[in-house]
Amino acid sequence: MVYKCINNIQSILFPPRCPCCGNTGESEIFFCAGCYAGLPFNHHACRRCALPLPSRAATDSLCGRCTRSPPLFHQALTALRYEAPVNHMISSLKFRQRLQLVEPLAKLMIDRLNVTQDLPEVLIPVPLHPTRLRERGFNQSLEIARLLTKDLLIDLDWRSVKRVRPTPAQTGLSEKGRRRNLRSAFAVSEELQASHVVLFDDVITTGATLTELSRLLLRSGVKQVDIWALARTPVQTPFIC
Ligand SMILES: [Zn+2]
Ligand SMILES: [Zn+2]
Repeated sequence: MVYKCINNIQSILFPPRCPCCGNTGESEIFFCAGCYAGLPFNHHACRRCALPLPSRAATDSLCGRCTRSPPLFHQALTALRYEAPVNHMISSLKFRQRLQLVEPLAKLMIDRLNVTQDLPEVLIPVPLHPTRLRERGFNQSLEIARLLTKDLLIDLDWRSVKRVRPTPAQTGLSEKGRRRNLRSAFAVSEELQASHVVLFDDVITTGATLTELSRLLLRSGVKQVDIWALARTPVQTPFIC
């Protein structure tokens, strides 16, 4: 109670800055009302791969690709479409170390997840290779995942999955090239005991990394792998199954 009062007083005295325009933001959502209303929420999306679908699509719809050939993971959920200004915010967080974006972005994800009851035993952020981690200084997926697990009261596991080989960007590669690129890139610890796992990434683009990780987790005994991500690119790309 006392803590909540202090928080309320703090938010009145020091209101947050809107991550988009820099004006005064609303204390609950960080953004100003205008920028928040303009965010590209991904409410109408394929329930398996989170591909944005037309707003007339029924809830629980599948995209054409998932109807023909479902991905290895059980379902994917994203808060946003990867379009302006979301792409600028995520780039700023990753490449300009704007760590003050972690909390507003995590809050958007938490609000999106409140619609689901199917919580996993553990949340695993997609790991960076140690070299990339040293360069960047932090793993943006891990930083956001920390706040999600704290809010949802589930375990955070950033040790069981490791990126053991650096991989060049997937952009421009064929399906075969992506598969080759990711071969032996990750390792899953034998100590992972969970049967329902969520992989968390900042953006779903080709889905190749998440598919490869799902394959490894399922092979290691996990029964259900779901994907959560902040944003999904609106263009359909084939998953490699
Ligand atoms: Zn704003
Ligand atoms: Zn789909």
